[in-house]
Amino acid sequence: MMATILFQKLLIDMENKTLTELTVELKSKKISSSELTKYYLEKIKKYDPRLNSFITLTEEFALKKASQIDTEISKGNFKPLSGIPIAQKDIFCTKGVRTTCGSKMLSNFISPYDATVIRKLNEAGTVMIGKTNMDEFAMGSSNETSYFGTVKNPWDLERVPGGSSGGSAACVSAGLAPCATGTDTGGSIRQPASLTGICGLKPTYGRVSRYGMIAFASSLDQAGVFAKTAEDCALLLTHMSGYDEQDSTSSRESVPNYLQECKAEFKGMKIGIPKEFLEGLDHDVHLIFDEAVKQLEKVNCKIVEISLKSSKLGVSAYQVVAPAECSSNLSRYDGVRFGHRTKDAENIIELYKKSRSEGFGDEVKRRILVGTYALSAGYYDAYYIKAQKIRSLISREFKEAFDKVDLIIGPTTPDVAFKLGEKLNDPIAMYLSDIFTVSTNLAGLPAISIPMGMKKNLPTGLQIIGGHFQESKLLSLAHEFQKMTDWHLQKPDNQKWI
Ligand code: GLN
Repeated sequence: MMATILFQKLLIDMENKTLTELTVELKSKKISSSELTKYYLEKIKKYDPRLNSFITLTEEFALKKASQIDTEISKGNFKPLSGIPIAQKDIFCTKGVRTTCGSKMLSNFISPYDATVIRKLNEAGTVMIGKTNMDEFAMGSSNETSYFGTVKNPWDLERVPGGSSGGSAACVSAGLAPCATGTDTGGSIRQPASLTGICGLKPTYGRVSRYGMIAFASSLDQAGVFAKTAEDCALLLTHMSGYDEQDSTSSRESVPNYLQECKAEFKGMKIGIPKEFLEGLDHDVHLIFDEAVKQLEKVNCKIVEISLKSSKLGVSAYQVVAPAECSSNLSRYDGVRFGHRTKDAENIIELYKKSRSEGFGDEVKRRILVGTYALSAGYYDAYYIKAQKIRSLISREFKEAFDKVDLIIGPTTPDVAFKLGEKLNDPIAMYLSDIFTVSTNLAGLPAISIPMGMKKNLPTGLQIIGGHFQESKLLSLAHEFQKMTDWHLQKPDNQKWI
């Protein structure tokens, strides 16, 4: 009895450890990967029905892999992430495991291959425990567009966790997984990280391979991670980045040891705050942000005001470019080769129409319509070309800013998590929740959101943006901030959501 209680306590202690600390425990065999994996699987089975953060649990797969890892560890073979349970966003193709992208269209799709992100993280020793819920085809900011139901925010079950990677964010925030993957096309890692009080890193475009990551808007999509600390994000990034011949847009830039670089001695930096990022900001979030800035000043950071005028046009440009690319990417779902196929079609045109009408939800249809419209002859110049021009302007302004400052900061979102249903019938209000995040995708820059404070028991995030391939720099500032503060250690009150 006593031994069982002690063992339970040990497992709960493990939940509070960073990934680096966990790997030490696993390596020293204080705990096995099988025990850790079982612990998380049981916890998910018991408590996730409240949150709905997982679409598929991969129990059998996970236990088999964990036991293989344990055998490896007993032979002294230890990989960088050996035995670490991880939740994978259901946008990544996973061999032999259902990959739905949050859509009815793919609700029965079993992928014949692994995405590169999955392969790399597998090779580094992680154990996939399940596939997380998400907005359908990653289109959304609230995780309310999923065919598999809404995800709840563990800080307040009546509020959204953000989107589109809402399931990944909610499960890490609630302690149902130590880390998770996500994707970010316009903010889908940073915004949910901010609303659930954890760290979310979106790397430079091309840093991580997009092979096997179901496409939404190919020139903006990038894979990244959720974890409790900047250090953990650095560790994961090191093992998922790198050139991949399967993705022609993946970069050949060498991959540093981000963990080591983020922990190197911090000597201060010059940091820009775009005045546009403080406009339309909630008053309390503004005050919290001011406090965060004061912390940074304590560690020799020089803060300067800058201007990114065109960032105000970011959402408008994004809402043309992203739907345009999505309308093209999603044309592959025709009911013929894979995905949902209607049961009653008289001819091929009807087969296409009905399969797509039945398989896609409203938001996806809206984006396909907008995108098709923006790309059609006559409107192409008026919308698509104009949006691309704004995109160039935004990139140029960022580039000029990074000639003057090391990093740019601002709040990740204009306010804390909103109520479920609050913006569901007002797409424009929903799109505007991405106002501070979309510009970095348009410019292909890396950015992280880390917890910076609480407004009435709801978390808010600090966004740190860097120049291309400056992940180490932004992780280093994030790490320094986390050495001084404990916002990243705050957890949702179990009494409230369990
Ligand atoms: N919320 C944005 C959208 O709906 C971003 C989504 C994303 O980054 N995948 O398009």
